[in-house]
Amino acid sequence: MKEERALIDAVAERLGRITERIQAEEALRSSEEWLSTTLRSIGDAVIATDEKACVKLMNPVAQALTGWNEKDAVGKPLKDVFNIFNEETGKQAEVPIDRIIREGIVVGLANHTLLIAKDGTKRSIDDSGAPIRDYKGNIIGTTLIFRDVTEKRQLERHLNERVKELRCLYGIADIAERPGITLDKIYQETVKLVPTSWQYPEVACAQLNIDGKEFKTANYRETEWKQSADIKVKGIKAGMLEIGYLEERPASDEGPFLKEERALIDAVAERLGRITERIQAEEHLRRLNRTLLAIRNVNQLITRESDAGKLLKGTCDDFVETQSCYHSWSVLLDHAMKIITHAEAGLGEDFSTILSQAEAGHLPTCCQKALGQAEVVITENPRSTCADCTLSHRCEKGVGLAVSLKYGDKSYGFLCVCMPKEILSDTEVFMLFREAGHDISLALRNLELEAERDKMDELKDSLIGMVSHELRTPLTVVIAAVKTAIDERISNEERQELLQEAVSSSESLSVILDNLLELSRHQAGRLTLDKKQISVAIFVEKAFDRVSRQGLTHVITLDIPDELPPVVADAVRLEQILYNLVENAIKYSPKGSQIQVFARRESKDVVIGVTDHGIGVAPEDQKRIFEPFNRLEQIGTSKGIGLGLVVCKQLVEAHSGRIWVESKPGEGSTFLFTIPLQ
Ligand code: ADP
Repeated sequence: MKEERALIDAVAERLGRITERIQAEEALRSSEEWLSTTLRSIGDAVIATDEKACVKLMNPVAQALTGWNEKDAVGKPLKDVFNIFNEETGKQAEVPIDRIIREGIVVGLANHTLLIAKDGTKRSIDDSGAPIRDYKGNIIGTTLIFRDVTEKRQLERHLNERVKELRCLYGIADIAERPGITLDKIYQETVKLVPTSWQYPEVACAQLNIDGKEFKTANYRETEWKQSADIKVKGIKAGMLEIGYLEERPASDEGPFLKEERALIDAVAERLGRITERIQAEEHLRRLNRTLLAIRNVNQLITRESDAGKLLKGTCDDFVETQSCYHSWSVLLDHAMKIITHAEAGLGEDFSTILSQAEAGHLPTCCQKALGQAEVVITENPRSTCADCTLSHRCEKGVGLAVSLKYGDKSYGFLCVCMPKEILSDTEVFMLFREAGHDISLALRNLELEAERDKMDELKDSLIGMVSHELRTPLTVVIAAVKTAIDERISNEERQELLQEAVSSSESLSVILDNLLELSRHQAGRLTLDKKQISVAIFVEKAFDRVSRQGLTHVITLDIPDELPPVVADAVRLEQILYNLVENAIKYSPKGSQIQVFARRESKDVVIGVTDHGIGVAPEDQKRIFEPFNRLEQIGTSKGIGLGLVVCKQLVEAHSGRIWVESKPGEGSTFLFTIPLQ
């Protein structure tokens, strides 16, 4: 039937549609299964969200990495499940869902993303997001694909750190190899270089303290995020290197620092220690060479220079020219600490200030110390320890060295130099400087001996002239007197007078010869005393008798207290001293005037004196007259060769006493000497 035909067609068509639907449903199911299996089996983590950024689907990898299971996560906002941070800044990060949906593009997320799982585990991830579209092309959600790259990132970081470390160490080596570079420059450059190798160079700063000096990056300031390492030189801590972050950074192995950075700062510190050792050794050698060169030049100078002033000037110039010292100065002093000569190099105008102070008797502390000791005086911080020195401001960069110029007991003066501070560790340099001081002293001694020899030669010449003249006069008198005296025609009285004259002139001859003899004994070092206990009164009487034999022209009084203790002395020499003094008193005071000879006890000495009322001796001449042949101008005509007082001085000193004169010109003099009581 027609209806049946329609029915069967309808059934068939329905069946066909059912079949189609079932087939479509099966196809969809199998497609969904396929999709789900695919999602589950891929190695990357996948999260799908709806257009409101709520989780719709998570594959097992995504569940494992986030720590969320799909059931709990579905419907939750993505940011709750996918908890990410920026690894570098430590700040929370977010997937730009809006942007993916708005722009419909695939977005690679920020580098260095850190995913924190539900249980707090941190993982570095690589991720990207893409829009999901329906069959009409409308965006209905997003998929987020990510993978755990912790290991890869660690490897990368490790490699990066190694590269930075190598770059840093290579950079330091490069700086240290630059020809002629100083340690200070190496430190400064290294401090600038080091922070660039740290993980966050833009906020890193560094400082280096070494040997009391500080080197810093321009941005350096105190911070709580820092790490440091000691710098050791020859096994001893010499300084410290410090790296700091100016802002807080995410926590790592060592505060904000990596394990590798601890190793690097240690390596840099160690490298700096070794560079310091090497450069110090090189500098030490250079300094030593410079000092040796200076000393060799000084030694050459010593052999050819015959003028003390030029010797000092040459020495000072040499020290500065060889660059052993910044400046150098030297002063020679006499026994009264008056400046004889001086020299300087490298000081210019500043020298005149210190010189005028020294001329006024104010020597800086270091020089005073040097004069009192054989060792070199080292002044480390002249500004504080030698503050009275007007040159201390010139020694800021350096250390002051002062050495006395001394030969045996004789001090000639001192030599001062300012050397670079580094020589404080160079004992050899001190020793060489001390040697230079010795060499100069020896040269000064030789010059002095030469001058003495010249003077002695001169003295010898004038002595011969004077002696022949002075001996001839009394000898002529003696010969003439004796010749006349033997003539029978003259009266007894006249004969007596002539003989008296002969005695007096012979006495003068004898005195001159005695004095010459004593002088030559003293010069030859053969002056020996025949000491015995003697009474002062006795030798005074003897000297008086000898004077009287020549006929008395003055009124001589003796004042020797009875209670005066005896002295242990050479009686003949004491008589000679006193005779010389009384004879001078007679020579240099008007006839008929009074001469007092006295003796008294003064603590451990007996003091013996001769006072006259003659011409006196001016204060400036009172020392000079005790030196050989120093006769004073105004005396001119009086007899004498200027030896009496020299011999007196030598004899008194041989007795461990002293001799001096107290006098007022025009009023008279008192010559005094002491003999110690034993
Ligand atoms: P001389 O008397 O032979 O010249 P001296 O050595 O005895 O040598 O004395 C050195 C100088 O000291 C003398 O030339 C004289 O100028 C001075 N002098 C010594 N004694 C006196 C005195 N009593 N009064 C003044 N001048 C003196």
